[in-house]
Amino acid sequence: MDCARIGLLSTTQHSPMTPQLTTRLPAVGTTVFTRMSQLAAQAGAVNLGQGFPDFGCERSLISAVNDAMLADFNQYPMMSGAPVLRQAIGTKIGALYGHAYNVDSEITVTAGATQALTTAILCCVHPGDEVIVIEPVYDSYVPAITLAGGVPVAVEMEVTATGYAVPWSKVAAAVNRKTRLIIINTPHNPTSTVLRAADLQALSDIVRGTEMLILSDEVYEHMVYEGHRHESVSRYPALAERAFVVSSFGKTYHVTGWKIGYVAAPAALMAEFRKVHQYNVFSVNTPMQHGIASYMADPTPYLDLPAFYQRKRDLFRDGLKKSRFELLPADGTYFQCVRYDKISTQTEAAFAEWLTTEIKVAAIPVSAFYQQGKESGIVRFCFAKQDNTLALALERLATV
Ligand code: PMP
Ligand code: GLN
Repeated sequence: MDCARIGLLSTTQHSPMTPQLTTRLPAVGTTVFTRMSQLAAQAGAVNLGQGFPDFGCERSLISAVNDAMLADFNQYPMMSGAPVLRQAIGTKIGALYGHAYNVDSEITVTAGATQALTTAILCCVHPGDEVIVIEPVYDSYVPAITLAGGVPVAVEMEVTATGYAVPWSKVAAAVNRKTRLIIINTPHNPTSTVLRAADLQALSDIVRGTEMLILSDEVYEHMVYEGHRHESVSRYPALAERAFVVSSFGKTYHVTGWKIGYVAAPAALMAEFRKVHQYNVFSVNTPMQHGIASYMADPTPYLDLPAFYQRKRDLFRDGLKKSRFELLPADGTYFQCVRYDKISTQTEAAFAEWLTTEIKVAAIPVSAFYQQGKESGIVRFCFAKQDNTLALALERLATV
């Protein structure tokens, strides 16, 4: 396009008249997921980096959304979400986790989990408040805490021969008068750790008698393997009474690009959440809400998800056993972490780039999930892929 002719500036030109901004997020660049996906595309690599399925969703889900559009569900929905969808979410949480959220005052539909997480942080973290995050930490939490003027306090998971674990005694030691919020994530991205009842008990012991709130990121709630139970915070009344619980339809229904999720919280917390939500997105697109609500009438798709992904996980793990990568446990999510110290001494970022450009399989360096970029010699692969995609990746990974 001839930008000069139509009076526009190209994206690389800067007008001397444009006022300078002081960044609110000095530490933020383009996310590792975007960068590795771009590199994978340039290199023609199999993209096991950014977490998204390379297969479609069920056609009946698409039909349900189309039907909603044709039925003229196309104007603003209620700010908190279409009642039918809030009802479907409430019914699901009740059936699976035994907590009866009030669907009018305690559930809000969001534009994906990222928006839910940021909105929850903005509504309860004030300047100077401390927020405990568990490292490795999902990339959106710390920038949201920073935007709110909060202070992230990282507690590192322990990495042992048998995998990652949350050291609750260190979490307890990090709590002080300024601690306002703790953010947990189960099943956990990137380590695939699934918190157990004992972990939730340890968390209860820490928050009891304090003013601390909990933000529980449960977007992989339906991806738990080996018969493990998803320990939703909503199962535990003593935790649920002070928690925002977040999930995402993108993960559950193989539609990461739809950007639709939800948050459940006690009415007093939700009232504050909605004050921010109302002037941030106001509401989430109507036909998808109606389409998803009718699709949710059948619980089979999410009840079948553990078996669906466990098969892929096992296929991927069995293949990797023939390589020089060392497998870490993967009890949940659609990620598999591996050690590569028998293959290379490179940093994780350099190794992931080399794998992408030379071996043609993209991965994510786990160091990107640490504020100080801790090196553990571990990268993350996503196995939410068609079997033939996994087979091609495994063939290549066996050569290193
Ligand atoms: N939390 C975690 C742990 C995630 O892995 C992701 C996305 N992969 C999100 C939140 C964001 O979900 P959404 O795409 O619905 O915003
Ligand atoms: N959550 C996805 C992952 O961990 C990426 C989502 C994104 O690109 N923002 O790979």
